[in-house]
Amino acid sequence: MSVDLKSLVRTIPDYPKKGILFRDITTLIEDPKGFRESIRRIADAHRDGAFTHVAGIEARGFIFGAGVAIELGAGFVPIRKRGKLPGETIGQNYVLEYGVDTIEIHANVLNANHRVLLVDDLIATGGTAIAAISLLRRTGAVADDAAFVIDLPDLGGADKLRAENVNIQALIE
Ligand code: 5GP
Repeated sequence: MSVDLKSLVRTIPDYPKKGILFRDITTLIEDPKGFRESIRRIADAHRDGAFTHVAGIEARGFIFGAGVAIELGAGFVPIRKRGKLPGETIGQNYVLEYGVDTIEIHANVLNANHRVLLVDDLIATGGTAIAAISLLRRTGAVADDAAFVIDLPDLGGADKLRAENVNIQALIE
C-alpha cells in the first residue's frame, strides 16, 4: 500500500520567522516507510532518464538526492552555500527577500557529456531551484529535470521553473 506522505510532513508556524508556515520534512524522514517511499517515487519517475548525476541542494536536498542517486546508479553533486566546498568552484547569485545569496558547485566536474537531475526537499518561490538549474547548465551539462518532495504552488516557483523548460516532479502539493 502506498504511504500518505503528506500526513508525515509537520507544519510549524512562525519558523524561521513570524508569519511563516514551515513545512518540516524531518517527521517524514524519521518514518522508515515514508523516507523510503519518497526516494523510490522520485527514482521511479526518472529511471529511464539516463542521468549521470543527481545534484542536491544544501542541506535537505542532500538527504533525498543521495538516496535517489544510489537508486539511479548516478553520482551525487552537492550544491552548497558559498564558501563550503574545498576545491575550485563556480557560483550563481540569487536574490532573497532581503539581499543576495550564492550557491556553488565544484568546477570541472560536470560537462556536456552529463545529464543531471536536480533534487530538493521543497520549492517555494523557485529562486533557489532556478539558480541551481542555471549553475548546472553553465557547465554544459543537460539539466532539464527537477524533483521536489513538496511544491507550494501558490508561490509560483514550479511554474517559473517550467518556463525555463524544466520538467518537474513534486510528490506533495
Ligand atoms: P525558494 O527558493 O523556492 O523560495 O525556497 C526553497 C528553498 O528554501 C529550498 O531549498 C527549501 O529547502 C527551503 N525552504 C523554504 N521554505 C521551506 C519550508 O517551508 N520547508 C522546508 N523544508 N524548506 C523550505
